[in-house]
Amino acid sequence: MPAQTYLTRSEEETIALGESLAGRLPSRAVVLLIGNLGAGKTTLAKGIVRGLGAARTEDVSSPTFTLIHEYGPKVYHIDLYRLDEEREVETLGLEEIFEKNAVVLIEWGERFPRLIPPGSLEIQLEQTADDARRITCNF
Ligand code: ADP
Ligand code: MG
Repeated sequence: MPAQTYLTRSEEETIALGESLAGRLPSRAVVLLIGNLGAGKTTLAKGIVRGLGAARTEDVSSPTFTLIHEYGPKVYHIDLYRLDEEREVETLGLEEIFEKNAVVLIEWGERFPRLIPPGSLEIQLEQTADDARRITCNF
């Protein structure tokens, strides 16, 4: 499918978009959330996690410090922002997670292309104004 672009004008709209995108994801998928700090990656992840029925939005937080959040056996949310070296990422056991029949959302995963499985889906997020975001899916 060609890339699809959406515009959102608030945090709530991005969460709602995430919920609807959840319905388009295969039950097994690695999804790279790509964009600068503040672009809305964690916000979109909240919506996707809610759309998958894995957790309530208020229970989804940024894994910046914990690196990996597991929302039940079928949804993972990973943030590699704090890691600089491939060898650090290699200690996380991501291969094991990638083998699961689960949706795996990853922030900053594109920085470690060698460790990301081929065929991963991508969502690009860009801030276009204070509260506006352009969100492009390659699926
Ligand atoms: P990231 O994980 O990419 O660093 P976050 O999702 O943690 O970004 O933060 C996005 C910030 O931008 C939040 O403070 C959110 O309230 C704000 N924001 C403003 N407008 C939007 C929008 N349209 N979509 C998503 N977040 C928005
Ligand atoms: Mg984040």
